[in-house]
Amino acid sequence: MDQNTVLIVGSIALDSIETPSDKRTNVIGGSTTYSLIAASRFSKTSIVGIVGSDFPKEGLKLYETYADNLEDLKINEGSTFRWGGKYHSNWDDRDTLYTDLGVFLDFNPVLSEQNQKRTHILLANIHPELQNSVIEQNKNPNAVIVVDTMNLWIETTFSELKKVLTFSNILLINESESKLLTKRANTENAAEELLGMGPEIVVIKKGSEGAELFSNRETIKIGAFPVKEVIDPTGAGDVFAGTFIAALAEKDSNQTALLKASAMASFSIESFGVDRLINLSDYDLTERIEYLKTTVKS
Ligand code: AMP
Repeated sequence: MDQNTVLIVGSIALDSIETPSDKRTNVIGGSTTYSLIAASRFSKTSIVGIVGSDFPKEGLKLYETYADNLEDLKINEGSTFRWGGKYHSNWDDRDTLYTDLGVFLDFNPVLSEQNQKRTHILLANIHPELQNSVIEQNKNPNAVIVVDTMNLWIETTFSELKKVLTFSNILLINESESKLLTKRANTENAAEELLGMGPEIVVIKKGSEGAELFSNRETIKIGAFPVKEVIDPTGAGDVFAGTFIAALAEKDSNQTALLKASAMASFSIESFGVDRLINLSDYDLTERIEYLKTTVKS
């Protein structure tokens, strides 16, 4: 049988980030970047995306190194998608300062023949219309489709997002977003309602309180690793998503995928951008997975 492979569609960005203690400009980020670096550690991963002619060489090098192929990476004349965010003093809440779409305005993902047949598809945080376009081009009827989203799309493109959910197998969502989407204050109730919208599995992420996985067959609750010094929370959700789908592609159980995803996300917040993930040893990763195992409640 052919090897399982992950395809990611999302944003490729240059981020300007302000945390309560530091700031950086032009950090190579976007939901695709974070989830690719995470996923490719575990499984063969390709991407579909767009950058502008101003995308730095080091960014392209990163993509050449971590993506299985760059057939569906477009480089268009113009500027790369730019996002600016500022975190509140609690390090959890953040304001979007600006979103400059640049070449993203003309982005219409077109999948190569190879990418139409992937076994696992991550619809990372991006406009639901683009997520739908990837679903429509998928030619593998058994593909596992994992969806991530954000409050912006819940608030502005609800019906498109609901359509994406109808075709999805797994939804990954923050606790606050799950409440916004379902209007349910209780996590279990929100999960039940989300399971009725299409996905067979719903994972509700609760930041420093861990994550909960719900399906008709099982409920798994895990804690979070207590990171000593958070440097930048940006991208933690994307790293969680990339790791989760890649672990499933490698036939891990839902519980193991959850543990790996949470461990990887905990490293992601220890640096701006993907630096910490790139320098992460298997030893350090295993240590955190072992710690998280002690927090499992099912
Ligand atoms: P996270 O912290 O997991 O929500 O992911 C943050 C990443 O999402 C940043 O690198 C941003 O570039 C990217 N991002 C922020 N807003 C958007 C948006 N509207 N569409 C696509 N990507 C976005």
